[in-house]
This record gives sequence, structure tokens and C-alpha cells, in this order.
Amino acid sequence: MLVTHENYRSPEANQFYMSYSQYTDFQRCEARALAIIRGEYEEEVTTALLQGGYVDAYVAGTLDQFKEEHPEMFSSRGATKGELKADFRHLDTVIARFMSDAVFTEYLKGDKQVIVTGEISGIPFKGMVDVLHRDRIVDMKCVKDFSRVWSDKHGQYVNFVTAWGYAYQAAIYRELVRQTTGDTLPFYIAAVTKEKTPDIAVLSFQDQELDVLLEEISYWAEKYQQVKTGEVEPERCGQCDYCKLTRVLTEPVEYREFLG
Ligand SMILES: [Zn+2]
Repeated sequence: MLVTHENYRSPEANQFYMSYSQYTDFQRCEARALAIIRGEYEEEVTTALLQGGYVDAYVAGTLDQFKEEHPEMFSSRGATKGELKADFRHLDTVIARFMSDAVFTEYLKGDKQVIVTGEISGIPFKGMVDVLHRDRIVDMKCVKDFSRVWSDKHGQYVNFVTAWGYAYQAAIYRELVRQTTGDTLPFYIAAVTKEKTPDIAVLSFQDQELDVLLEEISYWAEKYQQVKTGEVEPERCGQCDYCKLTRVLTEPVEYREFLG
């Protein structure tokens, strides 16, 4: 299947290809991930997602189109009717902050929103690279702030890259670009915070770590592919909104065994 900007997010493309976001969906809850692929459950489009899209569109030079496609970002009544809502108006301050930094803007040079495809463990994968430069791969992240957050998985406070598993994205994108261009390029995150006073960072990844993660991805992708094709029943995490929505009680649980 040929994947283009028009069909990148289509149900057909999501059925045929795995992606970083699909992989992380499966990691969090297989049942929910499968329901999303099958169109039985829709992920909520949050303000945070739209804000990330806004900044990505600015970097890609497609902000006008993005604004047209998302009228919900504009106030629909009152004195501010037709103006961007405050959550999005603030993003112009965010954009001005990173655009004023010489290193940050250097990392935004290159082709934008480049679609890459390939295979990991024989499973078709797709990705869309925010900025593909001859010498590097760059992904833009627009985050709430840079404070560390508690991670049950790691048993300690971790930074946003670890918390959101972005190193897995780095490993997948580096591999897809390698299969597309023949070059193993370094992966960077260019990050900006949405705080009143935005902060900025450009972050790099170690090749050895990405090698290890790619092995891990290969292993799990095979399992997730079996779930996708219906060979294996999806496991339910029991905690996410999808699991709550579809929970069917069978019998009482002795309260001390109840984990919630
Ligand atoms: Zn779940």
C-alpha cells in the first residue's frame, strides 16, 4: 500500500501499517489499540493534541491550512468571536521563543513532514518525520513543561522523553529513515514548553540505546501484529477509558483482591 499525506491517517493505512503511535497504543492497552484500528473507539482530540498540531503546522509552513481545518480553535461568540482562543493564541509566544534561538532554528532546517515506510521484523511500519535533514532526523515536541514526572514503570521520577517513551519513536524513525535513504541518521527532539514563559531544548539519543530498543520493538511488534490480524485475543489493561467503557461485570470480587 502506498501511503501519502492524504491517506496517512486513514483506517486502511492504520490497518496495513504499524506506527510509533499505534505501537505505544498497544503498549498501553491492546484492547483499546485494536478498537481504535477497527474504528470502534475514537481517541479524544484534546486541546494538547491540537496545540501540538498547531506548532507542527507552523514548522511545516502549513499553519493557514491547519487553521482552516480546525475552526474549533477559534472563539465562536462574544467580543472575541473569530479570534483564536487563548490556548492557541499563546502558541504564537511559544513559536516566537524557539524561533529566536539560533541552535533550535538550525535543527528545523530540512524537508518537512516526510513520510517514511519500511519493515521491522517483517511488519510494515509508517512514520512521518517532522524535519528530515541530510544529516539528521528531528521531531518537534510541544509539552506542558519540562518538570520530571513519576513513572511507575521506572520506579522513579523521569523526564518527559522517558515518561512518554519517545526513545521508541527515535528507534523506529531512525530505522525507517535508514531503510528509505540508506543512512543511519541521529535523531533529535526539538522541544518547547507551553508555559507562560516557554522553555526550549534540543535533545539527542545514544545509538546503542536505540539499537537495544529496536530489538525490543521487533519482539513486541510481532505480538501486536498477531492481535491486529485477529490471531491472538487482545489483552485488556483494565484501567483505561476504553476498558471502563466496555467493562462487563460477571460476579462480585472480594474487596481485598480488588485492585481498582
Ligand atoms: Zn485498557
